[in-house]
Amino acid sequence: MLELAKLRNFLEQPRHIVITTHHKPDGDAMGSSLGLYNYLIQQGHHVKVITPTDYPDFLSWMPGNGEVIIYTDNVQQSAELVAAAELIFCLDFNTLSRINELGELVRTSHALKVMIDHHLEPEDFDDYRHWDIKACASAQLVYDFIVNQLHHKELIDKDVATCLYTGIMTDSASFKLPNTTSSVHRIVADLIDLGANNATIHDQVYSNISEERLRFTGYCISNKLEVFHEFNTSLITVNKSELEHYHVETGDTEGIVNYGLSIEGVKLTAFIVERKGKVKLSLRSKGEFPANEICKKYFNGGGHRNAAGGESTDSLAEVIEKFKSILPTYKKLLMQ
Ligand code: 5GP
Ligand code: MN
Repeated sequence: MLELAKLRNFLEQPRHIVITTHHKPDGDAMGSSLGLYNYLIQQGHHVKVITPTDYPDFLSWMPGNGEVIIYTDNVQQSAELVAAAELIFCLDFNTLSRINELGELVRTSHALKVMIDHHLEPEDFDDYRHWDIKACASAQLVYDFIVNQLHHKELIDKDVATCLYTGIMTDSASFKLPNTTSSVHRIVADLIDLGANNATIHDQVYSNISEERLRFTGYCISNKLEVFHEFNTSLITVNKSELEHYHVETGDTEGIVNYGLSIEGVKLTAFIVERKGKVKLSLRSKGEFPANEICKKYFNGGGHRNAAGGESTDSLAEVIEKFKSILPTYKKLLMQ
């Protein structure tokens, strides 16, 4: 492991740096990556953010977004950048399988690797780690890294603050998950003082959707929601033809899972969607119920206790059946 003092030293000269984050990036993935990007470029580093896949329009407005390279659209250029990098920041993921083919490039690269992350069970591929599962967002850890480890609070400008605010806001579900501690609120207050415009950011992320997406959400809630009162569980499932009918694009399904958890008494909810060649699951839970355990044990996934995901190559119908068949095992926990 690299010592912090050595990393600080290393960053004193302009370096070739790559920042990468998990596939299908969410608000925290993009917010933490672009927050760190906007900080590093102020010091003359050559920095590129490479995402393994594309990401939704409601995340495509943050400062620095125009410079982001999407691996699947720029395979050769991404490989060259990773090969030339002296330092690679791995943000908001901790196993190389979360960055698809980029994983092998990062693994074999001679660059120093820094992991900034808040997920369970990190893989051992990094040289320096700022990792804390209690953090509500990787963007919170980037703030802490810049302010308390690199002592550069003065370099948090409006751009950095805007991106980090977005990461914390989205991963804490607008400051309402249990890990939104008083220190998170203090950080967020700082970010507002440093230039983040909270009302504008909320609007950009949450009030900027297409009419079709809103109608699709309505369809999911009124036609596709099932509630299993005997297990305090709800479920929304969507098949490929429904996605096609509503012209659903990347990110359009994000957030739908949360509606199932807003029903009184419901402790666990799942959103199961048929994607190209696989079925993807998103689980959300309340309190102590371990959504990540279900994803890990049964659906090749993982995540946090209250927000987890997984996938399967079985058919949609099989995955739905499997999910339902698991519920009796957890009945006691669900009915507490
Ligand atoms: P979402 O439901 O928003 O796709 O994912 C919620 C959380 O679950 C993510 O922040 C991530 O930690 C985790 N997650 C989602 N999908 C996967 C997966 O396929 N594998 C693992 N290990 N974690 C996942
Ligand atoms: Mn995150």
